[in-house]
Amino acid sequence: MLNEQNKHSWCVNAEHAMSANNNGTTKICCMIKNEEIMALGENTIQENFQKIEFVKIREDLQNGIRHKDCRWCWQEEENGRKSKRLRDNEKYIGHLEAGGEPFQGLAKFELNLGNTCNLRCRTCAPHSSSQWMKEYFDLYEAKNYDNDYKKYSIQMKRYHQTYDDESPFWDDLVNNLSTVKQFDFYGGEPFMSKKMWAVLEMAVDQGYAKDIELHYATNGTQWPKDKVEIFKHFRHLNLNFSIDGVGEHFEFMRYPATWSEAQENMEYAREFKKTHHNMQLSWCSTLSTLNIYNLPDLLDEFYKTYANDFGIYLNLVHGPIHYNISKLPKSVREAVVARLEKIPKEYENIWWHYLPGIINFINSGEYEEDVWRRFKITTLRHDDYRNQNFAKTFPEFAKIIGTDNE
Ligand code: SF4
Ligand code: SF4
Repeated sequence: MLNEQNKHSWCVNAEHAMSANNNGTTKICCMIKNEEIMALGENTIQENFQKIEFVKIREDLQNGIRHKDCRWCWQEEENGRKSKRLRDNEKYIGHLEAGGEPFQGLAKFELNLGNTCNLRCRTCAPHSSSQWMKEYFDLYEAKNYDNDYKKYSIQMKRYHQTYDDESPFWDDLVNNLSTVKQFDFYGGEPFMSKKMWAVLEMAVDQGYAKDIELHYATNGTQWPKDKVEIFKHFRHLNLNFSIDGVGEHFEFMRYPATWSEAQENMEYAREFKKTHHNMQLSWCSTLSTLNIYNLPDLLDEFYKTYANDFGIYLNLVHGPIHYNISKLPKSVREAVVARLEKIPKEYENIWWHYLPGIINFINSGEYEEDVWRRFKITTLRHDDYRNQNFAKTFPEFAKIIGTDNE
């Protein structure tokens, strides 16, 4: 446990968390940089949780040693930011101080539930969305698989097989419910996983639900009315809608979703919240080179229509690098920053604290001609394939970056 000797290293996640990728491989948390060498479905949850690499990290952090695989947390802390370690430790200590039971074993389980998804978001890829596979194959992979899509899909099976209905992982998960206090379900699209709903039912039937907090990132296209009532049995629900733009911007970013269906589902969620007080709603908006210029428009809509009932979290794309907002050429960077600086001060209470960090991030990077060229080529290539048009959808920004007449 946390003490004077290890307070600069001890981490609740190292002790009690595990994160599983779309292909079932596991790591301690989403921030760690360790090798993912064991997978759920092939080895049990407990074998994964107790693997030697995790035990070593756990021991180091307990003994005051800042393990190198946690470097992203150390870096943030050295720069005066609150790392994931510090945020999650604070929450856990708050839980204990409020009289909550200490965690035992695996208590926080993040599951990226394979690649079953109905969308092809611009900044996503086949390992997270099955809908991306054909497009990716046609544009990038056909030559590597002798133009044989079947060969490619066999190779891609590893991105969903852990979470397929017949996978042994699900029974194993039910057998591990007694210690779990938090699930983070990501996708694919988590609401499309039948087994995820079945596990929630088991958690209710076995009496564990009242102690479990649920977190989701959903793409806004799903609101399964016949299933969501189950949430009321859980201690807390944190539902994040992935909203990267408004109107046609949303539809460009999150093809082929429609803004009207996302609006409709957010209204269902808003209504639901009125009678289910154990829940928190948010937008999770992912910022990339495609949509950063239009962040003020997104915030206008958020402030006008959603801020009373929803929170907002702004997420930055780090890779692929051509979508990273720190890679803008100087003139584009200046135009973007000038626009961000005009965001109304009255938004301060919902998000203003993010602005300096985002501007610093934009200004901190180094422009690379190749990377920027790749951004333009990739955008046009997918425009052609999908019959979309970046320049028509984002005309002001396209003019600034010079793709309006390409
Ligand atoms: S210190 Fe950071 S990277 Fe390491 S386990 Fe904790 S949260 Fe994860
Ligand atoms: S909804 Fe999520 S998993 Fe699906 S394509 Fe979009 S980002 Fe990828």
